[in-house]
Amino acid sequence: MIATETAVQTGRFYINGAWENPGNGLHPVMNPATGKVLAEMPYATEADVDRAVRTAHEAFLKWRDVPVVDRVQVLYRFKTLLEKNALELAGILTSENGKTADDARAEVRRAIQMVEVACGMPSLMMGDSLNDVAKEIDCKTVRQPIGVCVGITPFNFPAMVPMWMYPFAIACGDTFVLKPSEKVPLTPTRAIELLHDAGLPPGVLNLIHGDKTAVDALLHHPLVKAVSFVGSTPVAKYIYTTAAAEGKRVQALGGAKNHLVVMADADMPKTVEAIIGSAFGAAGERCLAGSVLVPVGDAAGPLLDLLVKRTKSLAVGDGSQSGVEMGPLVTSDHCKRVAGYIEKGVAEGATPLCDGREKKAADGFFLGPTIFDNVTPDMTIAREEIFGPVLSVIRVKTLEDAIQLVNRSPFGNATAIFTSSGKSAREYSSRIEVGMVGVNVGVAAPMAFFPFAGWKASFFGDLHAHGKDAVGFYTEQKVIMSRWF
Ligand code: NAD
Repeated sequence: MIATETAVQTGRFYINGAWENPGNGLHPVMNPATGKVLAEMPYATEADVDRAVRTAHEAFLKWRDVPVVDRVQVLYRFKTLLEKNALELAGILTSENGKTADDARAEVRRAIQMVEVACGMPSLMMGDSLNDVAKEIDCKTVRQPIGVCVGITPFNFPAMVPMWMYPFAIACGDTFVLKPSEKVPLTPTRAIELLHDAGLPPGVLNLIHGDKTAVDALLHHPLVKAVSFVGSTPVAKYIYTTAAAEGKRVQALGGAKNHLVVMADADMPKTVEAIIGSAFGAAGERCLAGSVLVPVGDAAGPLLDLLVKRTKSLAVGDGSQSGVEMGPLVTSDHCKRVAGYIEKGVAEGATPLCDGREKKAADGFFLGPTIFDNVTPDMTIAREEIFGPVLSVIRVKTLEDAIQLVNRSPFGNATAIFTSSGKSAREYSSRIEVGMVGVNVGVAAPMAFFPFAGWKASFFGDLHAHGKDAVGFYTEQKVIMSRWF
């Protein structure tokens, strides 16, 4: 299904290898740059979810016995099709999410890398073995698939985040039910059309659309063995507690409030470019986005001069147009919510150095970038996840003050330090209570072969997303002891 401005398409479920129009009530998907309806989606009922999960379970009974070398052949073909159709996928992504064409292409590239890593499953799934652990007794560990796995994903990375999950699960021998964000269902749908074309057997991956009704039905379904979730912290916590109480394995990645610490010895021009990318890239709608800027000592003066000048020159507009550096927010409601945070920042006494409300573009859900100076740690804009292009500056005197400030945050997703001192970088990265740390890197996004997740209220679970952790998450380990008489 390709979404265009002229034809409003009707979304479909993909169950047991077939595309279906369930005839349920339809809900609009908007183009945030134009405010126009792109598509209408059916939302899954409990009965739809039950059908998808039972189909996945039936498929599992066969798929688990397909040799891993054969399972990954489908993924190799999928990767080739993704590459062939990368520009089209990126275009769909921009149309429903709003991020710029460059950001969308970079996201599709990252999604493809997930498939590339999952193609290595024959090596990744290997166990250990040791002969003669006792006299004439050998021991080995094997990894076996666990069954039906579920993915519930957010609006901000509709190409990449679903692929943190299903390529790994499928390669491990599991089957999957994906429920993508109802705000951006078209990109994951197109990707699954390609997976179908790659020859995936029916039922191995199933796609449904929907909201809390569908999610709750998945969380309580007795045939679902594992749940992967990415989204906001309150929902992540709900998913974790609900699914774990049902005895399921859960990884639930939540929200963030990321701090960027800048020492006076940092390379300021390069640091400013990195901060702009971190705070305002994808309109701040990234779980790795820098949200609080922490200049240490004398760093504030030269840093803010350069940063404000560059921020004011950022080109805001329809992400599909060339030269645009920042697109719209995903929905009208979200845009109003972010503007509400800017109002709150002013009301609580912070000083706006740039005010995004002044930059209106066309009919879409646009806000320009905002920078607040003189923010204190107790202010709402310093504490809560805004998930928009708003950067709050909290000035501190020493690196020690910066470390204490960051470690007091209930979130622990990502952070960065900018400095030319190895000693400061080392001290910061070792003492900071955050899952992903950048040193002179504004968006510390681990590649597909490393694990991805935060700490504290940014993550509920044990095994992180992608990398070797995904293999641990999507398999059960078994120890086999053998003695031959
Ligand atoms: P969200 O929590 O609103 O929605 C995520 C998913 O949960 C969607 O599929 C949605 O349909 C479902 N959902 C929403 N409310 C629900 C409810 N009450 N019960 C059951 N299911 C529900 O998140 P979002 O707005 O789509 O995405 C933005 C959030 O995701 C931000 O907080 C961001 O930090 C976070 N995020 C985190 C990471 C990470 O790696 N930690 C990555 C990307 C996004």
